[in-house]
Amino acid sequence: KLYNQVQDLKGNIRVYCRVRPFLPGQSNLSTVGHIDDGSITILTPPKYGKEGHKSFTFNKVFGPFATQEEVFSDTQPLIRSVLDGYNVCIFAYGQTGAGKTYTMSGPKVLTEQSFGVNYRALNDLFHISKERKDTFCYEISVQMIEIYNEQLFLLKFSPFCPRKPLHVDTLDIRNSSQTGFAVPDANSVPVTSTTEVIELMDIGQKNRAVSATSMNDRSSRSHSCLTIHVQGRELASGAFVRGSMHLVDLAGSERVNKSEVKGDRLKEAQHINKSLAALGDVISALAQKSSHIPYRNSKLTQLLQDSLGGQAKTLMFVHISPEADAISETLSTLKFAERVA
Ligand code: ADP
Ligand code: MG
Repeated sequence: KLYNQVQDLKGNIRVYCRVRPFLPGQSNLSTVGHIDDGSITILTPPKYGKEGHKSFTFNKVFGPFATQEEVFSDTQPLIRSVLDGYNVCIFAYGQTGAGKTYTMSGPKVLTEQSFGVNYRALNDLFHISKERKDTFCYEISVQMIEIYNEQLFLLKFSPFCPRKPLHVDTLDIRNSSQTGFAVPDANSVPVTSTTEVIELMDIGQKNRAVSATSMNDRSSRSHSCLTIHVQGRELASGAFVRGSMHLVDLAGSERVNKSEVKGDRLKEAQHINKSLAALGDVISALAQKSSHIPYRNSKLTQLLQDSLGGQAKTLMFVHISPEADAISETLSTLKFAERVA
């Protein structure tokens, strides 16, 4: 309740910035000058103006030493609101290699300490739903959708053997708008524990359309969206509450050099740029309480339409790398983020 009041005061859109630490073997000449709770200063070379630094403010800034637990602790109140019947979207934005997947899922080798937002959110969902078992009966189910080249792919799991996806279905949003969700939730798989979800997500990850880039071979040229549907029945009244949470690991935001990539890679890059711009336009229109919200400009914003705006809560994690050669991507990421904040 308190959180909801705080949200009402601050609006339903929050933007957190996270700086990744240097990776082993990187020279540690950082472009990050100063960080405090809500602002970050970037040191800029002369071609970006004579001041030599630029400052940006956000709801929260996490420096390179912030732990997964610290990052999640500011997200935690959103989880409770999903069980109260709110729709929540959490996005990870940033150039490839800046730490999106680390924030959302964690590093390649997972330990309890390194669990990302996804696992922690699910743990909390299961935990809180159990705490409420005397008053509510909750059903939780998950669904994984990938958006690649402005096409939606739904990972379909067999009802008899949910751990094996049958195949990936292409979806059309327009054909399925009566359900309240842009995509029918008939294919979502009921889950009762975080372990089950981790298994499903592993399968999902393996099915994603990934093409290696020079920067990071795990990088993804697609948006991946884990959707959690929650339905609660209040035992006393029989009334239902429905909430959902979309956890979106966005495709890398880097600009590609048109002279260097051609064909499929150029097409991918154009689709990514277009959909990230459309997401930025929607969130900034919402932040400015504009009367027209341009949902229809990308599959991503169409998919999430019901969970962006209105009573829904949005959290965007923007990620930056501290290296000097990332400076232009860092500045464009922070400018994007500032526009939606
Ligand atoms: P992205 O998903 O944005 O392409 P990744 O999450 O894959 O980036 O991160 C790139 C590399 O940096 C990975 O090896 C990851 O484990 C590491 N990394 C990212 N963020 C952090 C962090 N906060 N602390 C430690 N290592 C990190
Ligand atoms: Mg990634």
